[in-house]
Amino acid sequence: MDQPLLKKRLLEIKDIFTQYLESQQQRKTQERYKILEEIYVSDKHLTVDDLYQLLIEKKFRVSKSTVYNTLDLLVTSGLVRKHQFGNHLTVYEKSIGSRQHDHLVCLDCHKLTEFCDPRVQLIQNMVGNVLHFDIHQHDLLLYGHCIQENCPHRLVDILLAQNKAKE
Ligand SMILES: [Zn+2]
Ligand SMILES: [Zn+2]
Repeated sequence: MDQPLLKKRLLEIKDIFTQYLESQQQRKTQERYKILEEIYVSDKHLTVDDLYQLLIEKKFRVSKSTVYNTLDLLVTSGLVRKHQFGNHLTVYEKSIGSRQHDHLVCLDCHKLTEFCDPRVQLIQNMVGNVLHFDIHQHDLLLYGHCIQENCPHRLVDILLAQNKAKE
C-alpha cells in the first residue's frame, strides 16, 4: 500500500477505535493507538512478544500488561483478529483491509501459511442460511506438518541428525 493511502487508512482505523473506546468508557491513551498502528503497518502475524519488541525498538515505552490489555480491546472491537494455536501460540493480525483468508499451521515449527479459497465463504453463507444464523466471522485452522525441507523443528530431521551424530 502506498504511503498516502496507508495514512488515510490508519486515520479511519484510529477513528473507529476512538468510537469504540468512547462507547466502552475506556481511556484513549497514546499507547493504545501506537499498538493499533504497529499492527496495521505490519503485514505479519504478531505475537505479544513481537509487538513488545517492535515498540521497544522504536523507543516506545510500554509495559507488557498494556500490550495485553490493548490487544483485548482491539480484538473485541473487531479491528484485530486473534488466532490461538494449541496452548502455546497466540498471534494477532489486522482484520480490516487484508483480504479474507484462513491459515495452515505447521505443528513442528508453528509457521503460519495463509490461504484464500472463496468456497469457505460459500460454506459460511450456506450454514448461516440453513441454521438462521447471522455469521460475522469464522476462524479456520488446518494443522499439519509442513513438508518444506527447511522446517527447523521437524521431528524426523532432528532424529536423523541425532542418529548421524552417533555414527
Ligand atoms: Zn493471517
Ligand atoms: Zn514447519
